[in-house]
Amino acid sequence: MDQRREALENALLRAARSGGLTRDAARSVAADVCRLDSGGGEMAVKEMLGRLGARDQERVRRIVAALRRLDGGQYGTCERCGAAIDAARLDLMPETTTCRSCAD
Ligand SMILES: [Zn+2]
Repeated sequence: MDQRREALENALLRAARSGGLTRDAARSVAADVCRLDSGGGEMAVKEMLGRLGARDQERVRRIVAALRRLDGGQYGTCERCGAAIDAARLDLMPETTTCRSCAD
């Protein structure tokens, strides 16, 4: 699962960077977001979302939700039908919460 976390953190970093944050700012936000149990995570997410456009906001929300699912042990399970999401799909879209058939 560490590999999945790393992929999600990288995706978060990319979204933050594409939203115009500097590399250092994006890193620090990504690090905060990944410590979601400490109260700082929520603030970091809100601050970051405030700086991003709608499309990047949506992506960041999905990535953060996926990180929470990872923490909760639900990662990789489709939120609609409960089936396991296949690994190739997770490789491609680490933040996805639905299996291929539910996404269509
Ligand atoms: Zn499904």
